[in-house]
Amino acid sequence: MISSKLNDAFNTQIDNELASAHLYLSMAAYFESISLPGFANWMRIQHQEEMAHALKFFDYVNTRNGRVILGGISNPTTDFESVGAALMQALENEQKVSAMINKLYEISSQEKDYASQVLLEWFITEQVEEEKSVTDVIDQLRISGGEGAGLLILDDKLAARVSEPEPPIQ
Ligand code: MG
Repeated sequence: MISSKLNDAFNTQIDNELASAHLYLSMAAYFESISLPGFANWMRIQHQEEMAHALKFFDYVNTRNGRVILGGISNPTTDFESVGAALMQALENEQKVSAMINKLYEISSQEKDYASQVLLEWFITEQVEEEKSVTDVIDQLRISGGEGAGLLILDDKLAARVSEPEPPIQ
């Protein structure tokens, strides 16, 4: 059984993942509003990934005979100054989430909860990938010049992103 301290920490993280999902869906809405459906598609897939992360923690807490208690999530940002500003906020969000996952790993070490450490190792690796994927788009936006034909070509490229099934966890 999971300790109550870790149970509470995982419950907080479920809300954090749901808040991330909400933020990315809000970014998808922004990109739709400025007629960049490829960027919107990319953010929509981010939204799905964050929902999957939330559910991974949800399932884990239940598997360990914990109790999932959901809290509230705050309103996402709805207005962005530019395409680049939205992407930068996405990167900052992922960096924040990485720090949260690291903190969870620290708590699970203090609690000597080895099973939770194994779960969190998956998330630590995932965060490396999350930070890289948004950084790639930021770099490509810069290379494209961020407007005109370059921006439309990048939008087409991002339209091709498909969601990948989550690998099973042990
Ligand atoms: Mg996540």
